[in-house]
Amino acid sequence: MNSKRTPLIAGNWKMHHGGASGVTLAGEIVALSRSVPHVELLVAPPFTVLAAIAHECDGSKVLLAAQNVHEKDKGAYTGEISAAMLVDSGCTWVILGHSERRQMFGDTDAWVARKTAAALEAGLSPIVCVGETLEEREQGKTLEVVLRQVAAVTEVLAKASLPVAIAYEPVWAIGTGKVAGPAEAEEVHAAIRAALAKVAPALAEKTRILYGGSLKPDNADALLACTNVDGGLIGGASLDASQFGAIARAAEGLAIRFPS
Ligand code: PEP
Repeated sequence: MNSKRTPLIAGNWKMHHGGASGVTLAGEIVALSRSVPHVELLVAPPFTVLAAIAHECDGSKVLLAAQNVHEKDKGAYTGEISAAMLVDSGCTWVILGHSERRQMFGDTDAWVARKTAAALEAGLSPIVCVGETLEEREQGKTLEVVLRQVAAVTEVLAKASLPVAIAYEPVWAIGTGKVAGPAEAEEVHAAIRAALAKVAPALAEKTRILYGGSLKPDNADALLACTNVDGGLIGGASLDASQFGAIARAAEGLAIRFPS
């Protein structure tokens, strides 16, 4: 954690809590947000409940994100949702290029870059997810893969006046209970920041680089304390307000320890 950037703790709800239970969970997160004044909190529920959660979070500091967007602003794209529609629903952020989308729904680097541009154009801040598979890590290709994914969006991010974030999520750590060690995470986060700095030093300074992959209350302190880790993107543990709150409080403790 670095005092130059406000920590961001983001919950990716995936395909859970798409109705009334999502509104209840959002209400619990609004309540806990008051105890972490130095941390930004974000929730990314399913599309179906975005507008209701926007209402629930209104007047609080909890940010609302979608989990994906289509690159076009309107048209014959059955089943898709545009960035303008997400803005209309109350979103200010969107998660892009999550490994589940890359692996199961064919999101490529180029497509993620176009979605990132479309999001920014409509006024949405992106969290662009990057990360290597276990096979790629075992072949020693972690940095090659991650930096290729980052390079695909760097020019687009560099033009953004809105806040932006990159989430480093080793695919082998997502939903598996296996977590990158702090040294492994810091190596990749530092490499991402250095790659951004080569193209746009101001972008490197402002970008929050989040760690994601089995981030839980019991490992949050060690991971969030890494110099280039500016927060977390949390799947499983974000579905429970007490676990999400415990991770947010770990970030709050570190933010207080390293004041700006
Ligand atoms: C995720 O899906 O972005 C994620 C990090 O999931 P989990 O925390 O469950 O590993």
